[in-house]
Amino acid sequence: MTLAGGTNAANARGYVGRFAPSPTGPLHAGSLVAALASWLDARAAQGQWLVRLEDVDTPRCIPGADQTILHQLERCGLHPDAPPVWQSQRGALYQTALDALCAQGLAYPCACSRKEIEEAHTARGHAKERHAALPYPGTCRTGLHGRPARAWRFHTESFIEKCPPGRAEKAQEAINSIAPNLLIWHDRRLGQQAQNVCQAVGDFVLKRADGLWAYQLAVVVDDAEQGITHIVRGEDLADNTPRQILLQQALGLPTPTYLHTPLVLGANGEKLSKQNGAAALDLSDPLAALRQAAQALGLPALAHPHNISVADALALWAKAWPRIYNGAS
Ligand code: GLU
Repeated sequence: MTLAGGTNAANARGYVGRFAPSPTGPLHAGSLVAALASWLDARAAQGQWLVRLEDVDTPRCIPGADQTILHQLERCGLHPDAPPVWQSQRGALYQTALDALCAQGLAYPCACSRKEIEEAHTARGHAKERHAALPYPGTCRTGLHGRPARAWRFHTESFIEKCPPGRAEKAQEAINSIAPNLLIWHDRRLGQQAQNVCQAVGDFVLKRADGLWAYQLAVVVDDAEQGITHIVRGEDLADNTPRQILLQQALGLPTPTYLHTPLVLGANGEKLSKQNGAAALDLSDPLAALRQAAQALGLPALAHPHNISVADALALWAKAWPRIYNGAS
């Protein structure tokens, strides 16, 4: 693997999009919105659309869910342009990236347990908000102090401080354009976004204490290696984007274009998710499921919904897509 160059579709230089579900259960109405949106964006741009099964978080994966998801996509007429890949088979790529970050002093081992991190915050008088993740207090930045390494973390502050010119000019500009340490990025639907990564998340995890690869590192490495130029995914992932942009910059990888799609809310007003028991898609009528997803994306209703094939409906929506989402630029 060459981290900066990528392989596969990377050399085509055209549009390459992807859908990257975690096989923690079958697709539901909410995940179909992201699948359909990423497929339509790729089709509207006459680009390629890839599927990547994000099964690094093995304790949360359900055996067979990957095959169920692939079958559901197939039934909905969303066919990938290359064979799907599984993150669980790509550990060597993530290790190469971690080694590259270590070599630059941008990753370090961490011995802290969650409890110790909470205690460090309490000692500093910081209260933990409900559901909020605590930014890492930086305890192991100066060494493990004789304790065994558990996880590996990205040295966010050090990277933002250094941000070497020439290699990370864009990040440097973005970070400095409004306020120091604020990472500014653009989303095709949400517009300009900003996050102070040091304050919001601090030194985030690259490899977990249980030895599993963290989502942030795996997603950045895979998007680059697969030559992904456009990321279309659910809005619940938007606040991960600044961390991913920092990692791209630190590894000398290109930053794709981002579009985060509207979330589908359940009857209780909460985002539909596998965790809160969202029902699997009803495959007896894939067009009905697609129509619901299309509606969530603001696409026009079909004139003859009962007299049209899935393929024709998809083609109509692909035509309407650029009027709503401004094309793929
Ligand atoms: N695997 C993630 C999920 O299913 C999506 C990752 C991404 O699209 O960046 O929530």
